[in-house]
Amino acid sequence: MKINISGLSEGVLVYDFVKPAIELGLDQNFSGKVHAHVTLEKSIHQITVVVNASVKGVFICDRCIEEFEEEVKTSFTSIYTWNNDGEPNDDDFYILRKEDNIIDLDGSVKEYLLLSIPLKLLCKQNCEIPDSLNIVPEVEPVVDPRWKKLQELLRTEKN
Ligand SMILES: [Zn+2]
Repeated sequence: MKINISGLSEGVLVYDFVKPAIELGLDQNFSGKVHAHVTLEKSIHQITVVVNASVKGVFICDRCIEEFEEEVKTSFTSIYTWNNDGEPNDDDFYILRKEDNIIDLDGSVKEYLLLSIPLKLLCKQNCEIPDSLNIVPEVEPVVDPRWKKLQELLRTEKN
């Protein structure tokens, strides 16, 4: 997902990228292709890139532990500038050197997709824990033999 910015004239350009998830370095949850729709706007001092990306992932449901497929979507804006006096602390703010003529979006697309994985992974909103997983085996409470003496002492004291 590379954009050649050398000789770009001012204005808006649109790009569509498709790249296998594995080539972006995404893990085994993502086996398909990453789609990224990119709108680039070049002005005198900076290049603004708006990215909408999506990829299909396979996850394990937190409740029923079944596999399910879900599309992960993200959108973000990155600003590239030749000026040093911007806001260098902002993650999405990049300083370009004069000789830079490629903008590579792979890293940020990967990062934003990973951030968009829901914290709670449910195959469906109202997924229930199946009964087979809900049974807690009944176990007799076991007393550590080292505590037995103490218990006996306590009992004698109470008497
Ligand atoms: Zn489920």
